[in-house]
Amino acid sequence: MKTIGLTGGIGSGKTTVATMFSELGVPIYIADIEAKKLTNTSEAIKSELTEILGEKAYNKNGLNRKYVADQIFNNEQLLKKVNQIIHPRVAEHFKEWAQQQTGIYCIEEAAILFENGGYKNCDYTILVTAPKQLRIDRILKRDDTTETEIQSRMDNQWPDEKKKALADFTIENIDMEMTRAQVKEIHEYLLKTAQ
Ligand code: ATP
Repeated sequence: MKTIGLTGGIGSGKTTVATMFSELGVPIYIADIEAKKLTNTSEAIKSELTEILGEKAYNKNGLNRKYVADQIFNNEQLLKKVNQIIHPRVAEHFKEWAQQQTGIYCIEEAAILFENGGYKNCDYTILVTAPKQLRIDRILKRDDTTETEIQSRMDNQWPDEKKKALADFTIENIDMEMTRAQVKEIHEYLLKTAQ
């Protein structure tokens, strides 16, 4: 089973593209969702996060996300430590999950793939791109947020050009049907070559 990393900046359409692959029968692992689950189920993550963030990091409902967000806001060092606790466990969990899937290849959708070196564990990578203003407009339409907030999230991600240089495939997601055609093309290529 080959593993494919699928990424793209905020609002590029990662989830939209992942859904298209899923409709072709490809198993999809959504790293953000699995990471959220693992922070509440992994005893190792719980104890290490409590160690660096304090007892308040967890409440009776699990990870206290608001508290954690407040702690790591503007504290890059702490954010880095939190990621160093969570990311390797997600990578390990993905590996185990991938071994249980059937088919030629499976996909891990992750917001951060190149920035943290995670792409090195993938057999292939797919980058989803779209013009910046289009991405901003999509997020403004989808979420209750502001342009400034989106901009600051974009600033935390690598620019597309830097990611493009490392990606095996780039999908330009502007028009749904053109995107679907690109997905089909990559799918057929992978079915032939990723054996
Ligand atoms: P995030 O990083 O915020 O999770 P994402 O990269 O996963 O975003 P999506 O959630 O797939 O992006 O897409 C963002 C929004 O744009 C969604 O509301 C989606 O329906 C819409 N969208 C995505 N692609 C297209 C497209 N080609 N045409 C029109 N709307 C689109």
